[in-house]
Amino acid sequence: MRRKIIAGNWKMNNDLKETQNLITKLTSGLSGESINCEIIICPPFTSLSEAYSLIKDTKIRLGAQNMYFESSGAFTGEVSAEMLKSAGCEYVILGHSERRNIFGESNQMINKKLKKALNSGLKPIFCVGELLEERETGITEKVIANQVVEGLNDITLEEMGKIIIAYEPVWAIGTGKTATPEQAQEVHEFIRGIIKGKYNESVSENVIIQYGGSVKSDNAKDLLSRKDIDGALVGGACLKADSFIGIITAA
Ligand code: PEP
Repeated sequence: MRRKIIAGNWKMNNDLKETQNLITKLTSGLSGESINCEIIICPPFTSLSEAYSLIKDTKIRLGAQNMYFESSGAFTGEVSAEMLKSAGCEYVILGHSERRNIFGESNQMINKKLKKALNSGLKPIFCVGELLEERETGITEKVIANQVVEGLNDITLEEMGKIIIAYEPVWAIGTGKTATPEQAQEVHEFIRGIIKGKYNESVSENVIIQYGGSVKSDNAKDLLSRKDIDGALVGGACLKADSFIGIITAA
């Protein structure tokens, strides 16, 4: 049986003080709960070390929101996989729709980042998702297949075992519009089918596929009870300890 993984993407939120406050509330709020899922928080780069020092003896794991595919050098403003590891990260979100759509990241660039993360011992949370107009014109599956196949180009079977996929319909991110559990399940099943075709049944049955897009404590249970939905990548609702804990306990 696949374990559930709940990850919080803080995006460009929380300075050091706010990081300390949120983590303190999270760890104390979770201490009385029996937790049956893996929990990851992904603060901005400037808060990673501080976050790590506050969570290292807890069940919460650390992830980053992005990285570059080179190890070092003249890449102003970028951060490497090695740097993320040294700050305490185990995970890194790659291919988030905000990286694709605001910062112009292509499937090819995301593929390079996935390979570099895996080579450096980071576990990628690889995001895919269609835009509203793509859903409305009926090309959701074509878009998702393209992102998955190009993003995973030359990723070995063994490496695939370390990747988490996050299906995040772009029209549901930060909009309050959640995909219905049926809509999400349908795409998750489709993605699992692509993984089966590209690798094998065992890899496809084991890959964790998270859903992301306006997940909240009151819709988490319904989404997470679907057969192919193995967790959530949470934006807005992870910025308040209570609502993130609500999603964790729903899982
Ligand atoms: C996200 O950005 O990954 C996300 C899912 O955001 P939200 O939960 O706010 O829709």
